[in-house]
Order: sequence, then structure tokens, then C-alpha cells
Amino acid sequence: MKTGLKKGFITAVLLMIGLGGADAQSAHPADHASHHTHKTVDYTVDPDTREEATPVPDEEGFYWWKGNLHTHTLWSDGDHFPETVAKWYRNNGYHFLSLSDHNTLQTGDKWIQPRLSRYAASAGGVDVFEQYLEEFGKEWVEFNRKDDTLQVRLKPLSEYRHLFEEPGRFLLIQGEEITDEKVIHMNAHNIGSFIEPQGGETVRAIIQNNVNAVHKHQKESGRPVLPHLNHPNFHYAVTAEDLAHISGLRFFEVYNGHRGVQNYGDEHHVDLDRYWDIVLTLRLAHLDKGIMYGLATDDAHHYDGSTDHTALPGRGWVMVKARYLTPRHIITALKKGDYYATTGVTLRDFSARDKEYLVEIEPEEGIDYKIQFIGTPKDHDISSEEVLDENGKPIRATRTYSREIGQVYREVEGTQAKYEYTGDELYVRAKIISTKKHPNPFQEGETEMAWTQPVLVE
Ligand SMILES: [Zn+2]
Ligand SMILES: [Zn+2]
Repeated sequence: MKTGLKKGFITAVLLMIGLGGADAQSAHPADHASHHTHKTVDYTVDPDTREEATPVPDEEGFYWWKGNLHTHTLWSDGDHFPETVAKWYRNNGYHFLSLSDHNTLQTGDKWIQPRLSRYAASAGGVDVFEQYLEEFGKEWVEFNRKDDTLQVRLKPLSEYRHLFEEPGRFLLIQGEEITDEKVIHMNAHNIGSFIEPQGGETVRAIIQNNVNAVHKHQKESGRPVLPHLNHPNFHYAVTAEDLAHISGLRFFEVYNGHRGVQNYGDEHHVDLDRYWDIVLTLRLAHLDKGIMYGLATDDAHHYDGSTDHTALPGRGWVMVKARYLTPRHIITALKKGDYYATTGVTLRDFSARDKEYLVEIEPEEGIDYKIQFIGTPKDHDISSEEVLDENGKPIRATRTYSREIGQVYREVEGTQAKYEYTGDELYVRAKIISTKKHPNPFQEGETEMAWTQPVLVE
């Protein structure tokens, strides 16, 4: 095994128990004005979900932290104020959230006119400013009306984070969706300053230039920073061959909850599971570029409470295994592959030992699960063909490869499964497919799934 997934198989059940009466609350934003008679604002969490979200360590002191690595607010094209967004995640059992607005950090003094926002206008008449004011109160919200024009100040992350953050319970991370030409979008997490889109002549050059810029920032700032490629099938911008050629990049979104991003491909384009296997095979066997891990994110833009939106929160997330809830520990664990991506399936654990790969599900009653161990043999046919349109013209798309690539080595129906390597595999990863309908799906009829990370087989 060449990756970091060497830990023992831990079967400790991830019990979720309550805090009891010991729950600490953040400081009230309107403490100085508590003599006012307006109702108390509860911007933190409701007691039910607080219980559910309180994690318990396993016998080795590791926790599973639930997080989203792709989020928009009114700082870019999200439809709601950053506090409303942070509150949604804290209320829904998450432990960390990276704020990744397009080409912007949540810093500085910024005023907007929310009533004129096209997202507010398209939200079926929901007035996000009134919602914001109702939830957070006049003592917190900064606004003015001049000549019938409403101006509202967007709070920078540094000003509002204390309302939600709590050690070992909830963490906010400054991210950015570096949004470049040719529909190349890359998230960078835990950055200390704005990273300008780097541009480039080709898709590969643009991705590589941005990856390099993120690494440069990490080096100069001393912060652990994590770059990932977003939604490769959005406008089918990034082929598997493109991603396979990028150096220094270890993450892409195998699932993004925004309904515009074509996770499942179409007649000319591969779905992102097959895409992942082509990328892995090219990188590991032919290009010496190293492993590629898959993330699930929701890429949420719409928080006004209406469900009639293309990019709702909660469609996909990651569960990260780490001792501490800090940016450094979360990013370090992600870089080791100590996490899984999910759209609802919860795992007790997964691990890759020297000789076998193990997956254990935390089952829900009445739900059936299928565990697939997927990989490519070391000895495989790498020949490929161009994809052609109806007129026989080549399409810019991932090429067509042999079915040897990304084959299902073993499929098990049940809640735990083991795959013993034969030694012929280049890599092995696992995918879990549940019979439970996703309550908030990317696509109609979608069932909940999870993906654990590939490991190299020696
Ligand atoms: Zn994007
Ligand atoms: Zn986005």
C-alpha cells in the first residue's frame, strides 16, 4: 500500500449522543442591546440537531466530522446572507463548512441591494432580506434605505464566525471558488488571501496554473491549503485525460449537488464514476501523476427555504476521520484519504490493510445496501477511441476505453464487506449504493450513495 490508508479496521459504532445540559452557546450578537424588547434571536442551532451532531470518538480518539467543501452566499451568486448559510449547516448536523464564493473572499466592506438580486427575484418572491432581519435582528443586521433603495452590508467571515463556531463542534473555513476561463472552476480551502484566476491557453494549462498558484500560497502562507477541481462535467469542460495530466492535484468532485453539472454524463460523456477510473488508470499506470480522490459537495446557492431550486444545500458532503476539528487536521486527513464522500449513506468505517479493503456501513432500518469494489488490473488494455457525434465528427469528450478499466471486482449485498487483493489490481476503491431514495436529490429517483477512496495495490 502506498497511500495513507493503513490504519486498523475499527469497528467502533459511531454513536451519536447528546451534550445534555453542557452545551455552550456562542456570545449573543445583541448583548449590548439586551434591554430592547425585540425577541431573542436564536442564530445557533435547535436542540434536536445539536444532539445528533455531537460526535463521539472511537477507541483511538478519532471522530468522523461532517463537512461541506463547496458553498455560495450573497458574497457571490448565492441567494442568502452568510450567517443564514452558516446557520443552515450548523443546524443540519455539519461540523465544518468552507465558504467558497466565486473569485472572492468574505473580507472587506461590501454593501448590496438584496431586493434587486436576480437570485432573490427568482426565489418565488421570497424576500431574503426580511428573512435575514427576522432571524438575526435589527441590532445585528446593518442596512439603510436611501431614496427607496435598500442597502445591506454583507458581514465578513471574521465578524460573524463567532456566532456559529464552537471548538470540537463547528468550524468555518475560508475558501474560494477560483472561477476561470473555459468553465474551469477550482476550490481552494483554508486560504489566507485572495487567489486570482490564473488563466492559460488550454484547459490543462488553466487547471495547472491554478493548482500551482494554490501550492504557492500554501508555501508562502504556511497554511495547509487544499485545492480541488469542481464539477468536471459542467459544460463537459474537463475530460478525464485533462485531469489525468495535472500535477499536484489530488481531489475532484465525483458528486456535486448543483443540477446543472451532469454528474451522470450523457450519451457522449461518461458519468463521473467511470471518469474517476479512467483518471486513476491513466495517472497511476501511464503518467506517474499519483492518486486522485473523490469528493461529494452540494455547491449550494439557494437557502431561502423554497425547495424549487437547482442548488439546494445538503445533497452531498464528506465525512472526515480526524482527531481534532481544525483546518489543519481536516485538510491533513483529506490529503491522506481518511474520509468518504456521501450523499446520505453513513459508514462505521472503511480501511485498506496490506491485503484487503474493508467497508462497514452504519445501516438504517429497512434499507438495503450494495458494496462494490472497483478497480483496474495492472495489466490492462489502454487503447481508446474518440467519441463522435451523429455526423461522425469528433467531440471534445473523455475517450472510450476498454471495460477492463474501472471494473467491479466484487459486489456484496449487505452492510459490511471485505475485498482481498489478488495483487493484480492497480488500485481498488469502493462504492456503496443504498436503496434509500435521496430526500433532496440531484436527479429524480437518485438513491443515497457513498464513495471511499482508492488505494494502490502492490
Ligand atoms: Zn462552479
Ligand atoms: Zn460553485
